[in-house]
Amino acid sequence: MPIPGHIDPVPVPRDVPVRADGRIDLIGLTRDQLRETLAGAGLDAKQAKLRAKQLWHWIYNRGATEFAAMTDIAKTMHPWLAERFVIGRPGVVEAQQSTDGTRKWLLKSDDGHDYEMVFIPDADRGTLCVSSQVGCTLTCSFCHTGTMRLVRNLTAGEIVGQVMLARDALSEWPSQPEGRLLTNIVMMGMGEPLYNFDNVRDALKLVMDGDGLALSKRRITLSTSGIVPMMERAGVEIGVNLAVSLHGVTKDVRDELVPINKKYGIEALLEACAAYPGANNARRITFEYVMLKDKNDSDDDARELVRLLRKYKLPAKVNLIPFNPWPGAPYLCSDPDRIRRFSNIVFEGGISAPVRTPRGRDIDAACGQLKTSAEKKKRADRDREAAALAAVAVD
Ligand code: SAH
Ligand code: SF4
Repeated sequence: MPIPGHIDPVPVPRDVPVRADGRIDLIGLTRDQLRETLAGAGLDAKQAKLRAKQLWHWIYNRGATEFAAMTDIAKTMHPWLAERFVIGRPGVVEAQQSTDGTRKWLLKSDDGHDYEMVFIPDADRGTLCVSSQVGCTLTCSFCHTGTMRLVRNLTAGEIVGQVMLARDALSEWPSQPEGRLLTNIVMMGMGEPLYNFDNVRDALKLVMDGDGLALSKRRITLSTSGIVPMMERAGVEIGVNLAVSLHGVTKDVRDELVPINKKYGIEALLEACAAYPGANNARRITFEYVMLKDKNDSDDDARELVRLLRKYKLPAKVNLIPFNPWPGAPYLCSDPDRIRRFSNIVFEGGISAPVRTPRGRDIDAACGQLKTSAEKKKRADRDREAAALAAVAVD
């Protein structure tokens, strides 16, 4: 189904993906798909059901990546499984650690696409920022990811694979309910999650499955730039916390910052928020607001923000994000005093408005800085080529 939007999302086949070596990666398959895949490979219905259950537990609860480790599956069956299937992980091109403890991984898909994930440790939680697409078809003017040319949807396996890889890196297998380092997930990496709805939903269902990774939906947040027609489905079919990238309170400013606003305007967006299933005072919607100097940071903007959120009676909190710069960005971050004043006005309007501390800026891991170094290299190559051409022209 084409999702209505500014630019249609990249379609992906929903069949079980087969790797170049002919084997099937079991990561990312729904429980039913796993059973059907085993039946398709020749197991009878009863065996397929039993083995699917065992495999599920080993994969998502124990973090196994080798069939040989699966002690309750007959040894004679291990080679049969290994010939046909793999339990994959995203390829790691580079892993970096910031001075503040934030970790960023540059990942590579089997077909050579780069994407990124970021882990942000805090005193009381550890948050994994997960990507939903390689690049993004939307072109928000302050976001580095929006300048990437290459876009493809990540599969459910590549999305849940990020969580599996983080668990590997943190040595958090088997899955335990208590004492985890990885406690929260935010769909705030590269891409617009609601333009890759089916894969994001399937991946998050795997993440929430009580027998597997077992993260509560209350600890998962999906951030959208405001794909209005998909928001209700997100609430009904996924049911996680919602964050909305608002960033502007007038049509002109939001049209510039978040161009999808030309298609789904502020009023329609806030109506969809008011109707979001599951939002209430205990589970408020987060409105993200990037602080851009002299663009959206005036006292009037703050007052208009309060008026709008009140008008729609939204159970809301506002997250003020200091703008994270990137090379060639057309904006500056608002001054700290301005951000404080803006926060106070919203707070006095009865809405909490904390300022998000930027994390991992030194390794380009902060919000909106994600753009793979492979892509950067390509850009650098292009710049060099352009310089060489210019030099020739001058000669
Ligand atoms: N596409 C989704 C989710 C990914 S972006 C969305 O737009 O909501 C995650 C958050 O980072 C969004 O609120 C986005 O607006 C914000 N962001 C993007 N670029 C930024 C930058 N340079 N500085 C600060 N925040 C940024
Ligand atoms: Fe895409 Fe979100 Fe960046 Fe906009 S802010 S370009 S929707 S990733």
